[in-house]
Amino acid sequence: KYIKELHEIDRIVKIKDSLDEEKIFAINVDYYENKEDYYVFSLTDITKLKEKSNLFEYQASHDKLTGLFNRNKFDEVYSKELKRSKRYNNELSIIIFDIDNFKMVNDNYGHQIGDNVLKEIAKIILKNVREQDVNVRWGEEFLILLPQTNLAGAVTVASKLRIAIKEHLFTPEILKITASFGVSQLLSEDSETTFISRSDTLLYEAKKTGKDKVIS
Ligand code: GH3
Ligand code: MG
Ligand code: MG
Repeated sequence: KYIKELHEIDRIVKIKDSLDEEKIFAINVDYYENKEDYYVFSLTDITKLKEKSNLFEYQASHDKLTGLFNRNKFDEVYSKELKRSKRYNNELSIIIFDIDNFKMVNDNYGHQIGDNVLKEIAKIILKNVREQDVNVRWGEEFLILLPQTNLAGAVTVASKLRIAIKEHLFTPEILKITASFGVSQLLSEDSETTFISRSDTLLYEAKKTGKDKVIS
């Protein structure tokens, strides 16, 4: 009776099979020939289905090349993080950076070398940020949302990244990659749009004034 009253979503169990592998089952409960207190109880193996839907969810939120979050996911996280930071008066910062002269890398070495640069940069990011930071890629731009981080903290991270990218040995080794950074902290009067566009403007300023630098 208890199981029958549960919502379909809650009628899912994990059971280990004889090889100790965890399988996921949906429980179905039906009345048995309309007799009270008699039930037909059956289990359907939905492991494959569940794996598929997890995969779809992953693909919808992550960038295929680097494994970082995609723009879609960012929009969702950004909105939530902004509200949370405002409500609890938490600091929140954004780093946006863009690879310098990346078109030239593609033109001179080919798209595949360019793709490899993007992958390597994603790894550099993951080595230098904290677990709660939100790492996003779109095109040749990267964005990092840093909860509970003030401007000085975010500038430190951006500066570390700038140097790590500049000093990294890419393939081929003669490739010299740099990036330009815009960094800003959430202000109390900020909206979703003003916060991010301020960071964007600072990045643009870094580009205009010589590249390979962090501006906050
Ligand atoms: P700037 O220093 O001003 O940023 O110059 P730039 O050449 O980097 O900027 P521009 O906007 O002219 O070129 C961006 C390049 O990024 C062009 C585009 O082909 C490349 N790009 C965007 N996404 C990808 C990708 O997924 N893979 C590769 N290989 N290149 C990409
Ligand atoms: Mg660009
Ligand atoms: Mg660029």
